Amino acid sequence: MARIDLKNLAHSYFPDPKSDEDYALRRMEHVWEDGGAYALLGPSGCGKTTLLNIISGLLAPSEGQVLFDGKDVTNLAPEERNIAQVFQFPVIYDTMTVYENLAFPLRNRGVDPKRVDERVREIAEMLDLTGKLKQKARGLGADEKQTISLGRGLVRDDVSAILFDEPLTVIDPHLKWVLRRKLKEIHNKLRPTMVYVTHDQVEALTFADKVVVMYGGKVVQLGTPQELFENPAHTFVGYFIGSPGMNILPCNIDAGAAWIDGKRIALSDHHMNAISKASGPIELGIRPEFLRIDTDNSTEGDDGIEVNIIKVEDLGQYKIATTRFGNAELKVKIGEDQQIHGQSGILRFAPKWTKLYADSQ
Ligand code: ADP
Ligand code: MG
Repeated sequence: MARIDLKNLAHSYFPDPKSDEDYALRRMEHVWEDGGAYALLGPSGCGKTTLLNIISGLLAPSEGQVLFDGKDVTNLAPEERNIAQVFQFPVIYDTMTVYENLAFPLRNRGVDPKRVDERVREIAEMLDLTGKLKQKARGLGADEKQTISLGRGLVRDDVSAILFDEPLTVIDPHLKWVLRRKLKEIHNKLRPTMVYVTHDQVEALTFADKVVVMYGGKVVQLGTPQELFENPAHTFVGYFIGSPGMNILPCNIDAGAAWIDGKRIALSDHHMNAISKASGPIELGIRPEFLRIDTDNSTEGDDGIEVNIIKVEDLGQYKIATTRFGNAELKVKIGEDQQIHGQSGILRFAPKWTKLYADSQ
């Protein structure tokens, strides 16, 4: 298994790119440690597949290099890179049995038949395919075919890295949950370097030790799920991670304080220091979890903001209240036992849980 270095990597699908907009990947400079479980998370079109295909060698980058354990592999063909890749849709041989499909990547490399048999049975066991080993792949359902694809990706134990490109898209929700947990178990046991592409934050956060958040062809943050939640580096990460995402409020800085629609917002000393250096408009990020709403108006305080309550959605374990003051809209997460009365309330937050963004994405 290998450590993966991306050096000044950029890619454009245009033969003669003119501006940043023409690039699917821009200035990637990252190190992914040996044995790490990485999730590559970002919205559709942000460049995840492009990056994965460059790492596996299916695509040559316009600029920059890919290194495995310090060795430049940028110009090596996929089969010379020692990579396993699992795609969004099954890539298997319909005419072969499940056993032959799983054995294929090993037989192809001349692995000793005894070892092939051992490994195929081990992987089949992990993925609940043991009972189906003798069946032809042709007759199987989409879920089973994709499970075999996963098995083919996992069967070799000598690869530098295993790359998964949204591998559970075609899988039904329950099995998805089971397979995700299995992939995690396999990672814990064998510690391969795994890169798992998804646009689903739940998938990313449950699978990965480290999440690489991509946006507009760039990595905007690499961190643990907790770091991304507590300390999003950009407004996009704050908004994209969390359910619902972070509230992002445009503020004005005036007289050493932040103001929204003429209302002074209480901030921490740490933020006040940041503000004194900042110029121009800023954005304030507040997670819905760190807001409290008081609809009894019983404990009016200086730091409260009077808001209108637009709607309250009951999502079972918690409720989401959408509140508004002036042009600003904030979502508040409230426990299922709290009752909301009337159409207005006082909103409070702990300034230490807010984040300031001097420039927006
Ligand atoms: P993701 O996997 O995150 O959805 P992709 O890497 O597939 O994103 O795409 C990144 C950008 O590159 C998108 O704007 C997409 O339209 C463009 N793109 C992807 N593949 C090609 C291609 N073969 N030719 C031209 N443009 C492409
Ligand atoms: Mg993709």
